[in-house]
Formats: sequence, structure tokens, C-alpha cells
Amino acid sequence: MSDVNPFESLRTQIDEAAQYLDVADGELERLKSPERVLEANLSVEMDDGSIEVFRGYRSQFNGDRGPYKGGIRYHPAVTRDEVKALSGWMVYKTATSAVPLGGGKGGIVIDPSEYSESELERITRAFAAELTPLIGADRDVPAPDVNTGQREMNWIKDTYETIENTTEPGVITGKDLSSGGSEGRVEATGRSTVVAAREAFDYLDKDVEHARVAVQGYGNAGWIAAKLVYEMGANVVAVSDSSGAIYGEDTLDPVDVKEYKRETGSVTGYPDADRELTNDELLTLDVDLLIPAALENAIDESLAHDIEADVVSEAANGPITPAADDVLRETDTLVIPDILANAGGVVVSYFEWVQNRQRFYWTRDRVNEELDGKIVDQFWNLVEAYEDRDLPSLRTAAYVVALERVIDAGEQRGTWP
Ligand code: NAD
Repeated sequence: MSDVNPFESLRTQIDEAAQYLDVADGELERLKSPERVLEANLSVEMDDGSIEVFRGYRSQFNGDRGPYKGGIRYHPAVTRDEVKALSGWMVYKTATSAVPLGGGKGGIVIDPSEYSESELERITRAFAAELTPLIGADRDVPAPDVNTGQREMNWIKDTYETIENTTEPGVITGKDLSSGGSEGRVEATGRSTVVAAREAFDYLDKDVEHARVAVQGYGNAGWIAAKLVYEMGANVVAVSDSSGAIYGEDTLDPVDVKEYKRETGSVTGYPDADRELTNDELLTLDVDLLIPAALENAIDESLAHDIEADVVSEAANGPITPAADDVLRETDTLVIPDILANAGGVVVSYFEWVQNRQRFYWTRDRVNEELDGKIVDQFWNLVEAYEDRDLPSLRTAAYVVALERVIDAGEQRGTWP
């Protein structure tokens, strides 16, 4: 998959969704191209006094539905085309979850593990200075992504606020609570994955209580999904991380497994498990719900033939390859696409932005309740589109619904000049 250009993949996906809509060629090209891309060469002084140049990008793909929204990643493999593609996928994610935001993404070509904290701060601030004319609570709102977190977001926010001589916490999301972050943000991705699965069970007339669940990946998204589905009465029969998988016929206790992983660094060797499995064995267990929450492309075409789960809720981004997706469609496996299942992160980022703008902060219960409502509404919207328009899958339905929302917003704005 590594030689596939992600920007070409995005353009193909938009073409595929557009087949189900009446879109003129010029309009389609507009929807397949970022509005603008910043490419900045950042000259930064290193701790030894030398100068190093880092390349940074910010792509603002589409802002018809609101300010551009999307993370900033630090990785040596960042490219202009990757950033453009990721910014386009954010347009779909914000539109599918019906939050009034557009799509953007940024990145710096860097392996952050090779730099000191003070060097990273200078690199981040240099990038933030380049971003300042483009970002803002009403323009473009970055967030953490691969290898960036609250620390980098605080540096960007501080640089922006200093240059602009203002306080504007809504310029960035993913902040710590004390800097204007939102309650419930850490749990949001796992929560949307499980809420969407609960609705899918309802759709299939299945009961969550005593359902058998397997979760691949026990990081932030996976472990929270395991904990929440367990609290709904399901049996979490298998979980895994990069060290391997564990199985408990009746159920594992997700909180206890998390504690064990915290102490030992992995889930394997957990004393109350019945046995250990490989990650592929976990993915092909006969379960009611499978939650891939680790990597992209975890389920390829050959593995897809052996998937026995009735429902797959994609916590990870892109865990099912397109060929595997075709197989799962033929075997009537209900796949809840990542752009809805893991949208909790972006939905609660939206809530964070709303709270920053109101300067009024919500309780955790309110955040969870609003998130639940949004995922429920959008899940049933996708089901309606899937059934009424006879679309091949919920994934296609998500892309069609999202594209339609972006087209509607664009048409109402009109073209100028
Ligand atoms: P994380 O780094 O906290 O956790 C990843 C987990 O996957 C770890 O437990 C790791 O051991 C495990 N893993 C890695 N390789 C594996 C393998 N080969 N087999 C099994 N497990 C393996 O990351 P996360 O934040 O939980 O993100 C997981 C996925 O969810 C990613 O695809 C991410 O893009 C997506 N996602 C996360 C968020 C969020 O808010 N955290 C939001 C949207 C999407």
C-alpha cells in the first residue's frame, strides 16, 4: 500500500461518491482540490548554535461548512500530498458528523525523537508564526495528531496569542483542561465507536448485553471502547496490543487489563486470561462485535474472508483495505465506517471550540450526552441514505451524505468573484 499516493486515493473516493450525485465536472474538481496549501521552510537554531531547515505544510481543503479543522503531525514521512489527502478526509469527517467545520491538516517533516524539547519548542513556534496569518478560531483550528499533543498545542496557542495580542483558546483544540480543554475529550473516540456499535446492534435487532466483543489495539481508543462496551453489559472476550492478544471465554475485565498493561507494558501475560492468541486470531474470532483500534490496513482481503464478526466498528482510521471492504460487503458484515465510528474525537473538539467561544465550560455528563446524541442522529441518517438510495454500504452512504452536505453549503455560498 505504501506506493499508493494518498491524494490520488482521496480523489478516487470523491469520484466514487459523486457517481451517486449529480455533480458537474468543474464543481467536482473543486471538491477534489485543496483551496490552498502553505509550504514553509522553517530556519531554526539548534542547541549547538547551528541552523537547521524544516519543511512544514498546512492544507486548507474546504471551508464551505465552517473553519478548517484538522491536526498537525510531526513525522519524517510527511509529504505535501499526504497532508492534502488528510485535509480532504477531514472534510468528510466533519460533514459526516454534522459539525459546522471544514477540513484542514498540517505537518512538519521531522522525527521528533531526534530533537531536544527546547529545539522542538523553537521548531513549533517557528511553524506557529508561519501559521498565524492563516489560523484563528474563525479561520482554521489545528489540533494534535501523530507525535504532537497538548504541549505542542500550547506552544502554538501561545505564539498565536502573543503575535495577535489577544486571548483566543479556540484557535487550537486538544488542550489540557486548565488551558481551555473539554471534559470527555480523552474518552471521546472510544465512546463514539461504542455508541455507533450500540445503534448498529439495534438496527440488526441484536442485544449488546452479553454480546461477545474483540478489540484490536489497547491504546487510547481501544481500551476506552473496551471499558465502555463492558459497562453496557457486553463480554469483552479478547483484546490485543503490539505484543499479542489475550482471550477470556466469559469476559476480560478491561480496567484490570489496563492496570496490568500499565504495570508490565503489554496485555500479554495477563494472569486471568484463558489463553493467548495472535492478532490475526483475534480478528477472526466468532464474535458479535469487532473493534479494530490499532493500525490502518489491519484487515486485508485474505483476512477478510475469515472475519466472523457481525458488526465491525472502526475505531482506527482505515483499518480495512478497500478490497477487504468488498469481501465484508459480500459476507453481510455490517461495517461502521471510521468517519462516523471514530468521529467522537472531532465532535468533542468541536464542543471544546464551542465552549472556548462561549467562555463557558460544560460538565462531563453534558459533553457525553451531546456526543451520544450526535452519533445516534448521524448513524440513523447514514442508515436512511443506505436504504433509501440503495447504496452498497454504510461507508458509501457516509461519503455520499458528506459530499452532499459540502455541495449544498458551497452552492448556497455561490461563486465569487
Ligand atoms: P495509541 O497509540 O494510543 O494505541 C495504539 C494501540 O495499538 C497500542 O495499544 C498498540 O500497542 C496497538 N498496536 C500497534 N500495532 C499493533 C498490532 N500490529 N496489532 C495489535 N495492536 C497493535 O493510538 P490511539 O490514539 O488509540 O489510536 C488508534 C487508532 O485510532 C489510530 O488509527 C488513530 O488514527 C485512530 N484514532 C484515534 C483518535 C484518538 O482520539 N485517539 C481519533 C480518531 C482516530
